[in-house]
Amino acid sequence: MSNKRDYYEVLGVSKSADESEIKKAYRKLALKYHPDKNPDDASAEDKFKEAAEAYEVLSNAEKKAQYDRFGHAGMGGAGGFGGGGMNMDDIFSQFGDIFGGAFGGGSFGGSRGGSRVVKGTNLRVKMKLTLEEISGGVKKKIKVNKLVQAEGVTYKNCPTCQGTGRITRVAQTFLGAMQTQSACHVCQGAGKTVESKPADADAQGLKRQEEIIEIDIPAGVEEGMQLSVRGKGNAGPFNGAAGDLIVVIEEIAHDDLRREGENLHYDAFVNFSDAVLGASIEVPTVGGKVKIKVDAGTQSGKVLRLRGKGLPSVQRYGTGDLFVHLHIYTPTTVSKEEREILEKLRDSENFDPYKAQKDKSFFSRMRDIFSS
Ligand SMILES: [Zn+2]
Repeated sequence: MSNKRDYYEVLGVSKSADESEIKKAYRKLALKYHPDKNPDDASAEDKFKEAAEAYEVLSNAEKKAQYDRFGHAGMGGAGGFGGGGMNMDDIFSQFGDIFGGAFGGGSFGGSRGGSRVVKGTNLRVKMKLTLEEISGGVKKKIKVNKLVQAEGVTYKNCPTCQGTGRITRVAQTFLGAMQTQSACHVCQGAGKTVESKPADADAQGLKRQEEIIEIDIPAGVEEGMQLSVRGKGNAGPFNGAAGDLIVVIEEIAHDDLRREGENLHYDAFVNFSDAVLGASIEVPTVGGKVKIKVDAGTQSGKVLRLRGKGLPSVQRYGTGDLFVHLHIYTPTTVSKEEREILEKLRDSENFDPYKAQKDKSFFSRMRDIFSS
């Protein structure tokens, strides 16, 4: 680090230089030593990196102040350059704008590396699942119609880009004539095109085919969740890499159970005499019916919590509960016999609405359930 040149010296500006002078000086050096203008010249690349590093510090008020106080010693550690300096991708991602788009094409490393593997597009499918399937997790087979690599296709170097995957143009910019590079529009950057192919293959060497794909759905998924299955999407053009299969989860509404995150809810109806005398009732769960006890003297609105009878968390943080909401069912029609019994009951009952309203035990019991 100590053998580094002074940043002001690198850019050829004085310590009192302002922002625009620093920027101007850097642009001049960057264009002079740009690797596209100095192919295979290692010393130009070093100078290019050195200028970028100096600019990175002097164009940032905070770093500049630190450099002015401590010199290179102040530039170590986090936010500094350690021993490695800047790499080309850093320079282009940070200062790309200074070239005014003159060199085009995003990542420098990518454009230097020549042709690339072209990725196929993602496939999206919807998958409807029952609560039972969601509860246990499920393996599903689905049929998709997708692009696959055709057999017997031969490739040759792309004649448009000579196999480089890139096209170089000379463009007039405010800095003068500049080279720009972009991915080849014929081969999409793959560097090759189809030489010969069977009749069923398209110009990229692909064909459509139905395929059965088995998908492992984890327990606890929810409506709208997307699972991504790597490499099961459309094949990539020119023998590229396949895209992904995106599975969008849809929940089939359950006949009886209502979902709320990992918890389930069920509305159970109990007749008046069962609520008074106590009873055992059946309630559905995702794992089948279970019997629960309704205590004698149960009020309408009471909620029973069945721990662990909800759905598993998709992140495997345990399992939700099933809440059984008890409602006392009031019959809308009664037989002659029932009517007689009810009338007798009414005559004998000492129901006091004011006293019932004051019955704190009923409300406090409900609160207990919700706070447990
Ligand atoms: Zn090409």
